[in-house]
Amino acid sequence: MDTEQLTAFGNILTWVTLLILGACFGSFATVLESRVPDGKSIVSPGSQCPNCHRELRWNENIPIVGYFLLGGKCKGCGLKISSKYPLIEVTTALLFLASFTPGPAAQLGMPHLATAAIAIVTVPLFLIDIKLYRLPNLLTYSAAIAATIFALSQAFITGDWGMFLTSMLCGLIPAALLFLIAVFSKNGMGLGDVKLVVSLGIAAGMFGPRAAIATFVVAFLIGGLYSLGILITKKGNSKSAIPFGPFLLAGFWISFLGGDFLQNVVLSPWSF
Ligand SMILES: [Zn+2]
Repeated sequence: MDTEQLTAFGNILTWVTLLILGACFGSFATVLESRVPDGKSIVSPGSQCPNCHRELRWNENIPIVGYFLLGGKCKGCGLKISSKYPLIEVTTALLFLASFTPGPAAQLGMPHLATAAIAIVTVPLFLIDIKLYRLPNLLTYSAAIAATIFALSQAFITGDWGMFLTSMLCGLIPAALLFLIAVFSKNGMGLGDVKLVVSLGIAAGMFGPRAAIATFVVAFLIGGLYSLGILITKKGNSKSAIPFGPFLLAGFWISFLGGDFLQNVVLSPWSF
């Protein structure tokens, strides 16, 4: 093999490893989504049927594959397994993979690792907020702590503490603003959103302040458009509670995946 082939082989090997890791985190995300809201342990017991409590065998526990091995239903009692589970696994795996783009070589720097940490909690937070109107502390705090650790690691490696301060402020300033909104508005915004913003702001801020600002501008734009749509179609009134977490998460991923192009489009009207 010449150097070029070796590089290509290395790239493929890295992406395959990340895909397997992402699928495992996807499986973990289904556990987070179904157990964290009830305060159940996310470690034990192992996955089992909620109806007959049949434990899953090792091969049935393989992310995504397991669902198809079981034919979408429990082998003990025939209970249909919600297609929600493989969908959570696939979406989480894709977001996890996306965290290391752009390619062809996987980007393994600290900002990308922080993004991958956000990827693990994105789908659970999204679904829990839509269903229960809350963002569990375990998930928002874990994400904020992970983002801080990656930002700190980056500062230790590069010695660039100014960058560290910037990324922390990218989390804390929007969180402070959102806190004020949460205090003064009676609907929608809650303290869970404030905590989520800390983690999203720090992770995005590691790519620079523009990435963080774009995240929140996009979140407020689509959140605002959605609320307007609800009002126009008369499906709710101005007092209707709308979970804001999904918009924050969407803003984060749209800004991350849109990169420089999106940041230029979104931020140019405000001349940032
Ligand atoms: Zn069963």
